[in-house]
Amino acid sequence: MNPMQNPEYEKIDVLGVGFHKVTFDQALTLLLQKLAHKRDDHPFFVATPNPEMILESKKNKQFQKTLANTDLNIADGIGILWASYFLKKSQNIKSRFRMKITWINSLMKVVFSSKKIHSVLPERVTGTDMMQALCQKVTPETKIFLLGAGEGVAKIAAEKMQKIRKLNIVGAYCGNAGTQQEKNIQKMINEVEPDLLFVAFGAPKQEFWIERNLPYLTTVKVIMGVGGAFDFIAGIRKRAPKIFQKLGIEWLFRLIIQPSRWLRIFNATIKFPLTVLKVAQTKVSKK
Ligand code: UDP
Repeated sequence: MNPMQNPEYEKIDVLGVGFHKVTFDQALTLLLQKLAHKRDDHPFFVATPNPEMILESKKNKQFQKTLANTDLNIADGIGILWASYFLKKSQNIKSRFRMKITWINSLMKVVFSSKKIHSVLPERVTGTDMMQALCQKVTPETKIFLLGAGEGVAKIAAEKMQKIRKLNIVGAYCGNAGTQQEKNIQKMINEVEPDLLFVAFGAPKQEFWIERNLPYLTTVKVIMGVGGAFDFIAGIRKRAPKIFQKLGIEWLFRLIIQPSRWLRIFNATIKFPLTVLKVAQTKVSKK
């Protein structure tokens, strides 16, 4: 059953994208179940939208549609958890002034009282963390394919994961997010019959690639867009220390080590909260 219709996993709307109210462990268990059983009529499509992806989906309605067609959307980013909390709090506010105060208050809670921030959507689940957890927990027979990232990166990521635990990795290929090579890639994947396919073309390319190719993948049970996960696992990009992740300031670490990403970081940390406020205020004016 598609969990979008599964009452067990309530769906929370954040600016037009529905997120499933699942903890990391619930999502992991669900995906392990999908891998353990005969597959449904199509691969189970997992996306991990972050604040940048929400902003993109506001401009790009095709992307918004794609995110509505996934089987599971899990929140990647404390910003999404914050937005779900603030939007819920803002529902009964009737004055714009009180809305702004609540907005500032809720933003402060990200750092000082992060428990409250987790009260609507319970946990942040990054593509990298979920990929690593799945690779730790799948049965040794589960066939895994890594598609995407720069030339050779998927292979290095596969080797690194093999060092932690023996895995049945049946393919690691950089591929191409465009439509030219698609038939060849489908053939390459179908020939080695993977159960689990990780796609790392970055958003929104990877979600579009998955949506287009999903009907032609004959054996894949679970397919997941994982952004920069192969780069992190291969050690090409450094992940922020746990304390930065816990405080919700992974962006600060990224800004220090990759200043060229400033625009993406600005979008996630400034533009996204302001957009959420704007949307909440629009609702006040309509009341
Ligand atoms: N990527 C790719 N093909 C493309 C665009 C991106 O394989 O056409 C890869 C890129 O090499 C990287 C991953 O997609 O490994 C995601 O990159 P991004 O920095 O967007 O990841 P995020 O920071 O969003 O996790």
